[in-house]
Amino acid sequence: MSDLIPTATDPGCLFCRIVAGTIPATIVASTPEAIAFRDIAPQAPVHVLVVPRAHLSSLDAAEDPVLLGAVVALARRVAREQGVAEGGYRCVINTGDDGGQTVGHLHLHLLGGRALGWPPG
Ligand code: 5GP
Ligand code: ZN
Repeated sequence: MSDLIPTATDPGCLFCRIVAGTIPATIVASTPEAIAFRDIAPQAPVHVLVVPRAHLSSLDAAEDPVLLGAVVALARRVAREQGVAEGGYRCVINTGDDGGQTVGHLHLHLLGGRALGWPPG
């Protein structure tokens, strides 16, 4: 396995369990670095979470630009595959308490399929 592919996992982490396959999720795409699966409570017709396979608690803990690039690149690919690239979409990474982060494993929300409001609450 490449040194660029991180393997650290946290058995107590919800998204690590989804990555490991011990909690079910609807996976729509994956790469050696990241996976994309549907949010359990979708806020738009397309609402996919893109997460690194490695456990990183938040964007603030993610110092590897290659890994971050892999997450964003997978979001771009999923947007095209899910048919929202032409109409437009939004990528959100809630970070920390004030950012509204509720799951402590870095994740990017890909939202599309409807016109999204701005600013966020
Ligand atoms: P956050 O608020 O941390 O930015 O986003 C966490 C997201 O994870 C929420 O949109 C929530 O609906 C989603 N989520 C929480 N638990 C699960 C789960 O067990 N499975 C899936 N697929 N999504 C989940
Ligand atoms: Zn984790």
